[in-house]
Amino acid sequence: MSRAKEKTSCDYPRLAKEMLSNEMLETSGNGAPCKLPSGLYLVATPIGHLGDITLRALVTLATCDLIACEDTRVSGGMLAKYGIKKPLLPYHDHNADAAGKKILEHIKGGETVALISDAGMPLISDPGFPLVTTCQKAGYPVTVIPGANAALTALSGSGLPANEFHFVGFLPAKQAARKQAIAARAQLPGTLIIYEAPQRLADCLTDLASLLGKERPAAVARELTKLFEETKRGTLGDLATTYEKEEVKGEIVVLIGPAEAKTASTQDLEALLKNALKNQSLRDAVNNVSILTGAKKSEVYDLALRLSKEK
Ligand code: SAM
Repeated sequence: MSRAKEKTSCDYPRLAKEMLSNEMLETSGNGAPCKLPSGLYLVATPIGHLGDITLRALVTLATCDLIACEDTRVSGGMLAKYGIKKPLLPYHDHNADAAGKKILEHIKGGETVALISDAGMPLISDPGFPLVTTCQKAGYPVTVIPGANAALTALSGSGLPANEFHFVGFLPAKQAARKQAIAARAQLPGTLIIYEAPQRLADCLTDLASLLGKERPAAVARELTKLFEETKRGTLGDLATTYEKEEVKGEIVVLIGPAEAKTASTQDLEALLKNALKNQSLRDAVNNVSILTGAKKSEVYDLALRLSKEK
């Protein structure tokens, strides 16, 4: 587990304000203010630490005509810290059609519109997908200003393989649907990355351990880039036990190491099945063992029948 970081003494918002002073935003030579070409700009904002905003993001936000954002209060507060004051337009899943049309009108009129989410990269478990496709279909430029993202930040520091990974985003909140979603991803060869709410973390880890195996390596990254940032590493079984006992707060990314490529031998299957049949129905035991090992369901079913008869 990493220790909580000391609060940085560097005043990043003040640095940003100085950089955004009028002289800095003038193009060299003629003194005219810097103006980006018309279009939609997808701008990444920090996931916690205010220093994690790029120079390009600051200039785009400070010079655009309109900023579309999920929550005007959240984004207004964040922008004010950098000294940026711009017209804000709410854009979220519930008004995407109407707000999307308004945004398109602005772009049609030659304006520059930035889309931001409450934190991190727009569209990554955040609104914006219909807006991007509409703009692209209509032939307006869509430019990405990259930056902070919780999934990749967590992956880099997780200690789990980062050469291949699968971003899941949020799992369904209801247990049956969640279990189905986990099972469907059990044999993917890369590290799995999941966004999870603190109040569901313990249940989610318990389901992950039962479907993917208690021994699978995993990590829970919490409050990344913030004062109480921590990453706990261990097996799924250990992490499930830890978070059953511990009340947890803040923003969370769960990462699970890749499924092992090995196919289970008949002996492994027998042992796993015998264990599963102790407290599961035949159907559940077959399903779970087949997910866990990647063995064909028919093969596991035949074996389960034989074991039941022998019993
Ligand atoms: N667009 C964002 C991104 O690029 O990462 C993700 C937005 S999604 C609505 C919010 C979820 O991202 C949180 O519930 C949490 O799972 C994860 N998240 C965001 N910030 C985080 C942080 N600082 N530490 C850990 N997880 C974070």
